[in-house]
Amino acid sequence: MNWHLLPLSEITHLLQTTPRGLDEVTSKELLRENGKNEIEDTKKKSIVKMMLSQLSDFMILILIAAAIISGIIGDLTDTIIILAIIIINAIVGFIQEYRAEKAMQALKKMVANHARIISEGKMITIPASDLVPGDVVVLEAGNVIPADIRFFETHQIKVDESALTGESNNVEKNTEELPEGNYALGDQTNMGYKGTSITNGRALGYVVAIGMHTELGHIAKMIQTDETTTPLQKRLAAFGKRLSIVILIICTVIFFIGWLRGESAMTMLITSISLAVAAIPEALPALVTIALAFGAKKLAKNNALIRKLPAVETLGSVTYICSDKTGTLTLNKMTVQEIFETSDTKHNDAFEEKNRLLHAIALNNDVSKGENGKWLGDSTEVALVQYAFDKNLNRADLEIAFPRIAELPFNSKRKCMTTLHQIQNADDEILVITKGAVDVLFHKLNAEQQSLIPELERKVNEMAEKGYRVLGYAMKTLSSLPENLNPETIETELTLIGFVGMIDPPREEAKQAVSECKEAGIIPVMITGDHKLTAKAIAEKLGIISSEEDLVLTGSELYALTQIEFVKIVENVRVYARVNPEQKLRIINALQSKNNFVAMTGDGVNDAPALKNADIGIAMGINGTEVSKEASHLILLDDNFATIVVAVKHGRKIFDNILKFIKYIMTGNSGEIWAIFLAPFFGLPIPLLAIHILWINLVTDGLPGLALASEPSEINIMKRPPRNPIESIFSNGMAVHILWVGFLMGVVTIGMQAYAIHVANSHWQTMAFTVLCFSQLGHVMVIRSGQDSIFKIGFFSNKPMIGALLITVSLQLMIVYTPFFNDIFKTQPLTLYELLITLAVSSVVFWAVEIEKWIKNRNK
Ligand code: ADP
Ligand code: MG
Repeated sequence: MNWHLLPLSEITHLLQTTPRGLDEVTSKELLRENGKNEIEDTKKKSIVKMMLSQLSDFMILILIAAAIISGIIGDLTDTIIILAIIIINAIVGFIQEYRAEKAMQALKKMVANHARIISEGKMITIPASDLVPGDVVVLEAGNVIPADIRFFETHQIKVDESALTGESNNVEKNTEELPEGNYALGDQTNMGYKGTSITNGRALGYVVAIGMHTELGHIAKMIQTDETTTPLQKRLAAFGKRLSIVILIICTVIFFIGWLRGESAMTMLITSISLAVAAIPEALPALVTIALAFGAKKLAKNNALIRKLPAVETLGSVTYICSDKTGTLTLNKMTVQEIFETSDTKHNDAFEEKNRLLHAIALNNDVSKGENGKWLGDSTEVALVQYAFDKNLNRADLEIAFPRIAELPFNSKRKCMTTLHQIQNADDEILVITKGAVDVLFHKLNAEQQSLIPELERKVNEMAEKGYRVLGYAMKTLSSLPENLNPETIETELTLIGFVGMIDPPREEAKQAVSECKEAGIIPVMITGDHKLTAKAIAEKLGIISSEEDLVLTGSELYALTQIEFVKIVENVRVYARVNPEQKLRIINALQSKNNFVAMTGDGVNDAPALKNADIGIAMGINGTEVSKEASHLILLDDNFATIVVAVKHGRKIFDNILKFIKYIMTGNSGEIWAIFLAPFFGLPIPLLAIHILWINLVTDGLPGLALASEPSEINIMKRPPRNPIESIFSNGMAVHILWVGFLMGVVTIGMQAYAIHVANSHWQTMAFTVLCFSQLGHVMVIRSGQDSIFKIGFFSNKPMIGALLITVSLQLMIVYTPFFNDIFKTQPLTLYELLITLAVSSVVFWAVEIEKWIKNRNK
């Protein structure tokens, strides 16, 4: 449908709507008819597909085939058990994948967008996914357009359509229908498209298309980026492939050695394939997803909402946290501390001499009074207005005497705002009031006052050094309203009437978080639009600046530096003052060029590029615009700096636990391979049957491995440097650990076997099987901490682990001691003496790794 060519009257007719919006009943009906306003995920797997994919693994298929053949030519019970274990395995795998999928969906729901619409003449907020054609949406700067819409009311509206057209210029929009013709998306000036963002103004529009019917929906397949695979998962998947090949080769060797030693070919085939199935860690990526998704859930409870899963994993690598000052490091609760009025020589007309500053404060603001009598608006302005009206000014009277006729709104780049008022009791004169950053105002003063600047500056610095935000007020009168309202024509020739110093106290918890950062090798950096001295004073209070080498850089100083010069000093800059949001991108680039991993906060529309380019872009949940949230990896629900540090800590812990999990699984696998590989070289029969191997893979690996995810953080977690994101997970001794501890497990197992055979104990296989199982349980306990002794962290500090161990031990005892399972697993009940020997031998691995940690700690 060519909505852009139609007159509005026809649009309302076609959509059966009006500017007052749809009524509730119609909306509900349309929602049922049209479905949700969502871009479908084309990659989503169906449940059946998920199940089949568990079985489709090539090795599993071979194993099933081999089991069936062996059943036909020989023992049918074996076949049934192997098939049963494979099925249970598949179910477990499916449940895991399903849970991962569910957790991901829950995450997506948490970050769902909302839309404001007019319904039956009233403005309400609904989930953006519930929009229907005909709805009237209300849009303003900072919003992301939630569906395809046709504008019917616009006020200086500008849209960034780069998400759709790749065109980076903002497009101006209006409500005019277009003459017949062919228009590219970017030229359809009365339309707003889903996924693009409003950068300026406000507007109303009718929803004309939703979900997959929108322009974004048409190209959805093209832009669907794979945000769910994390760097670690990619590496694990690639590593898994290489590992599979190695394991297949080893298993082939095992097959031939066993066969040559005289085992039957069929037994060896099933044993070696079972070993391959058990040892290839194909489930690792799915398990990593679960760990990350559950980590994300925990983070949400701690006020950090993850928008992109990889952020959970990479949080632990952050080396710089660049944070906005106002509201994040400070409370955003301003109070006026001090005012200063210039003893101005120039006559003044509009106000009585001594209340001039107060009047200016009362008039120049965008604060409104809420229902409960509280002032609503920007915290700086609220503080100012509160101050003025506490001094007995009457707002209603003022509004009659000086009605506002125009304004130039505040923005962070200009750092000031101007209001224009009609002066009622003078001969049609117009009063101009500008307030803003003092150094900006200085450039806008009249010639007479220019000479006073050095003196005024001294006064300002005095205030700023106390950490006060200083705003200046200046004014002038005009005889008529100029036609062209812009800062260049209006904000000139002003007379400064005074300044106000106010304080925004630092957050108590931020101070703590700053010192925690520093201990953890993370450098906190403050970014603010505020004055250099103000910023410095606050940074000192927070501990962000603590030595002579810590630099403060202003936006204009930064502007003057070449990129090479900037990169040279960037790592020492702790405070950026008077910067524009656009400069954040430069800061990120410079830090990244020195191999830093940068987290950056932002709340405004023009923070979006910085948030996207940061390694971790952090948006503000309370004061952030939608655009900034969409661009971010993480949203702070409480806008609090301390929450970032908590998130980093969690990120480190989650990553640690994933590594522990990998270490546990791979070492166990390595142990099984060693045992079966080494036995023939010592003239021993294969120590384990295929079902034993599959059992260990399913039970012994499974539960305790999962319980590692509940491991509390290491004691030194925030006292060690950040993890290098490009470093392999197998460096740092992991690979060596997997090999030597696995080797030890294998040796202990066949040692047990050899001893038992030597003393003609017919229970040797059950003993070897149990030793391997219990060795792994000892191992999982000892790697709960990578560096502290289990005696230091305490045996009971991970409750789920205790549960997992109890269950696993009980299951093992069950197959050793119940006749039913004895038949199935070909096990024999052990005597108490045999059981005790088994336990003692199993503990070797535990002690060996404890000693390794002890030696490492002593050498430090
Ligand atoms: P921050 O990063 O600290 O939030 P802003 O970009 O909001 O900084 O503000 C930058 C400067 O603009 C402030 O230091 C102040 O001097 C001035 N300013 C802030 N708010 C207003 C306002 N509502 N009206 C006029 N000037 C303002
Ligand atoms: Mg601000």
